[in-house]
Amino acid sequence: MLEHLGSFKRTHYCGEISEKDLGKEVKVAGWVDTTRDHGGVVFIDLRDRTGKVQVVFSPEISKELVEKAKKLRHEYVVAVEGEVRRRPEGTENPKLKTGNYEIYAKKLQILNRSLPLPFPIEDNVKVSEEVRLKYRFLDLRRPKMAENLLFRHRLYRVVREVFNEEGFIEVETPYLTKSTPEGARDFLVPSRIYPGKFYALPQSPQLFKQILMVAGIDRYYQIARCFRDEDLRADRQPEFTQIDFEMSFVAERDVMAVAEKFIRRAYKELLGIEIGEIPVMTYDEAMSRFGTDRPDTRFGLELKEITDIAKQCNFKVFRSVAEKGGIVKALNFKGGAKLSRKEIDELTKFVGVYGAKGLAWIKVLPDGLQSPIVKFFTEGEMNEILKRLEAEVGDILFFVADKPEVVNAALANLRLKLGKMANLIDESKVNILWVVDFPMFEWNEEEERWEALHHPFTSPKEEDIEKLLENPGAVRARAYDMVLNGVEIGGGSIRIHREDVQEKVFKVIGLSEEEAKERFGFLLEALKYGAPPHGGMAFGLDRLCAIMRGEESIRDVIAFPKTQRGQCLLTGAPDTVREEQLDELHIRVETPDSEKE
Ligand code: ASP
Repeated sequence: MLEHLGSFKRTHYCGEISEKDLGKEVKVAGWVDTTRDHGGVVFIDLRDRTGKVQVVFSPEISKELVEKAKKLRHEYVVAVEGEVRRRPEGTENPKLKTGNYEIYAKKLQILNRSLPLPFPIEDNVKVSEEVRLKYRFLDLRRPKMAENLLFRHRLYRVVREVFNEEGFIEVETPYLTKSTPEGARDFLVPSRIYPGKFYALPQSPQLFKQILMVAGIDRYYQIARCFRDEDLRADRQPEFTQIDFEMSFVAERDVMAVAEKFIRRAYKELLGIEIGEIPVMTYDEAMSRFGTDRPDTRFGLELKEITDIAKQCNFKVFRSVAEKGGIVKALNFKGGAKLSRKEIDELTKFVGVYGAKGLAWIKVLPDGLQSPIVKFFTEGEMNEILKRLEAEVGDILFFVADKPEVVNAALANLRLKLGKMANLIDESKVNILWVVDFPMFEWNEEEERWEALHHPFTSPKEEDIEKLLENPGAVRARAYDMVLNGVEIGGGSIRIHREDVQEKVFKVIGLSEEEAKERFGFLLEALKYGAPPHGGMAFGLDRLCAIMRGEESIRDVIAFPKTQRGQCLLTGAPDTVREEQLDELHIRVETPDSEKE
């Protein structure tokens, strides 16, 4: 028979029973984690969100109580009253925070039962993520997941503390809105009242936060949900959370200072880690040394360019690439000369994923160089290559020749792979840096047009404004990204607040006046009414939280995430809807053949 809570009123959380409670009568409630029957004495571990405590049901108190306790099963919900005692010597459990104590039960109320569990409520359970997500209410009872949510809550608190201290105002911006300019696909919501019209879910609050600056709010922040209907890559979510902020009358340094204050406080307060000076690296330097705009500088293995040598050498593969405007870069995998042919073949396949057509290599052995390509180089050229790569006996040098994008992507990823393989990355290090001076535009080869690398409201550098129309490729943006252990955790920019500059930028990216007006007319209009100079930034909160918690997947720090295929296994979304709902929305669905059963 299940009981009512009645007059029971909890006095303590399970995980918080401590020395000072010895001898006290306490009331705790929670879930039965484990039960043990030791010769007529029943022990249970009782769990709530704070942890576990042992409860003892002894015939000394009452035989009936013991009989009742024997009925308990995993995840039954109970309320217990009893006295806190020290556990008899030798029976303490050092793994448990409350492991020196137990509650000697005097009263037990069984409040609810549970079906047998699909998986045990423990950390490190071997269960597929699908099952975990379907039974998320059980998954979140696991201590690590509960701690993840608690940690995330504390992170929100730090956000609010820091931004409040700095005079920011928290403002909510709408979810039902118009298309935003972050460059992904929009999620659309059909309007019932206006047949054939749609709201778009915001890809970010970008336009609204700029409008708030025009409105004189001066400093805005929000823990904002963003929605991007992208093809889902490994660790992305269709909806995710940003710490979004914007400031007026500022330059790059001011925005970066606030961001630094936040990240420092978060690490200090939540993990006890002091973040030192945060270095600033230009985009060009990052690309040149690491092949990526989010370099992991916890380890070396830097890339070196040898295009100049390639241009004049007799190795056709290198020379023709260099002559056609491509580049040749290399890295020295210290001590890698022992790699087998098979291992090198695997690495070749690996760089192939990034478009590299091959991976040339040179082993530096005690009796000379071993390599299929050495014979194509003069001694002088080879010496220069070895010197540039600081090659020593025992090393292997890897080379990729191709378009700059391919070379950089291939070698940047090879660098990370080798770094992990050789254990060069100190996982305990927190490595933060800024990357600045991004190019303003990027050439979209397929569509043969310039695109904004960030979004089109990012301001070009003052001194580059005149180059906007004749040489867009040379224009740098007033943008900055914060990179943490090789992951971009945040980014932003100083914005364009002048109409004439904005018009030029639209022109470069091939956005006609009408199109610009149709898509962002409301912002352009606002910019005409005394827009102050302004800039801002957004942190990806899910990613930051996952990194701080040492979780591989952002899904582990989101209460109810979607799968990699964009499904919510708990609720079954996305799902079909009733015919009447579609009728009301004036929508007729045509299922593509590929989806028909
Ligand atoms: N809106 C940008 C983003 O979502 C961030 C910013 O520029 O403030 O990436």
